[in-house]
Amino acid sequence: MPDPAPASLDPEDWDAFAATAHRMVDTAIRHTRGLRDRPLWREMPAATRRLFAAPLPLVPTPLATVCDDVRDHILAYPLGNAHPRYWMWFMGASNLTGAIGDFLAAVNASNLHGGNHAARLVDDQVVRWLAEIAGFPATAAGTLVSGGSVANLIGHAVARHAFAAARGIDLRQDGVVALAPRPRVYCSAQAHGCHQKAAEVLGLGNVSLRRIPTGPDLAMDMDALGTAIAEDRRAGWAPATVVATAGTVNSGAIDPLPGIAELCRREGLWFHVDGCIGALAALAPRHRHLVAGIEAADSLALDPHKWLHAPFELGCALVRDGTALLRTFSLTPEYLKGATRGIAAGTAHHLCDLGLQTTRGFRALKLWMSLREHGANHFGALIDRNIDQARLLACRLEAAGVEVHRPVGLNIVCFRHRVPGLDAAAMQQFNREVMIGLQEEGLAAVSDTVLDGRHYLRAAIANHRTADADIDLFVDAFLRAARRRALSPAG
Ligand SMILES: *Cc1c(COP(=O)(O)O)cnc(C)c1O
Repeated sequence: MPDPAPASLDPEDWDAFAATAHRMVDTAIRHTRGLRDRPLWREMPAATRRLFAAPLPLVPTPLATVCDDVRDHILAYPLGNAHPRYWMWFMGASNLTGAIGDFLAAVNASNLHGGNHAARLVDDQVVRWLAEIAGFPATAAGTLVSGGSVANLIGHAVARHAFAAARGIDLRQDGVVALAPRPRVYCSAQAHGCHQKAAEVLGLGNVSLRRIPTGPDLAMDMDALGTAIAEDRRAGWAPATVVATAGTVNSGAIDPLPGIAELCRREGLWFHVDGCIGALAALAPRHRHLVAGIEAADSLALDPHKWLHAPFELGCALVRDGTALLRTFSLTPEYLKGATRGIAAGTAHHLCDLGLQTTRGFRALKLWMSLREHGANHFGALIDRNIDQARLLACRLEAAGVEVHRPVGLNIVCFRHRVPGLDAAAMQQFNREVMIGLQEEGLAAVSDTVLDGRHYLRAAIANHRTADADIDLFVDAFLRAARRRALSPAG
């Protein structure tokens, strides 16, 4: 007897499916509501690791069992960034409305490469909203991407294309070998690693990225930048782009944006801003002056999955002259030709003409929903509060005798417990042990870094759930852990 025709992937019993799905929504809400009462993080047990070592499942498992495993083995062991005292690697804390948005985007199932449908309009609208936050003109264009790394890559690609076009070079046809003289890109020594990857993947090589020293505030030194550009011109390089960082990942330092904008105008260079951390501070009424100048950028990378707490992933690349973005990526093959009516109608270009992806998910919906629900002003107030909390943390730590790296950048505090009689390596070990101990207790998460050659712990507060009381709780726990360690014979 032949096999019966396989069923579709839709539920066989819609009511049973609904019951399981509703139960999962309840689980998700309970999980989020109880975040503060559970440990921020805990080590996974062997049973959990075993589940994820299982081979490809060939036969069915009841959906209810699959969902129970998600609850017991996945939701139970998160990275921790949704917790109010997660201030470790720089990221957002997500939100349930955004999660519903991601779910509904999947239900909607539209492919955002192009086409005449509602999701396309939402994608356009969210890009316009982000451009409005950044103060970009109506002629700007942008594209939603996976995150800041890709948003920066897009910026570098458009800058490289514009550099070539200005010299009559058809970069898309002839490739980087046609680039002469070689373009040089400048960023601060504190710039994010994604810029090096961009230089590498775009065929310019790491050598094309010149790191400019920073001053005591860890922001780019303008004199050093001017000197480097002049030196490079004499040596036969073609200065092409300055990457300014609005909020560095190490310390929250903000490069001198208006000064760099002015220098780029004077020198005829592309002005790219890595605003993955700081660009959204433009929403914060009491601190937006700190990032004044981003609106002058030729291209800007920003990261709504950081300070707008969109569930991962959501980044955005904006380009002031929208046609420059199109000229870099637009390519409409026969199989994607438009029409005047029907599904392929309606727009001058497809969304895939603005970037690298063909198939694109409906990333915009999660942000569209939460921005509408709360209003942009609320997000601005939350950003203001995080910046205040960083200052509060710095003061509390100093009052307790902990060394804080000054000045404190945007929302990142770097600090270390000084132990008399310990050398640098032993002090690093001491501070790291305290840091890891707090993670293992599930109490709070900070990370560590090196500034001016010295090791520091680092708290990056970009979390809508952090209350001021969490700052005090952390300082108390940190001091307690440090005292305990100082007294322990192994310490
Ligand atoms: C986070 C970050 C990036 C990378 O963004 P992802 O979203 O992690 O890809 C780039 N630059 C800076 C300054 C960042 O903080």
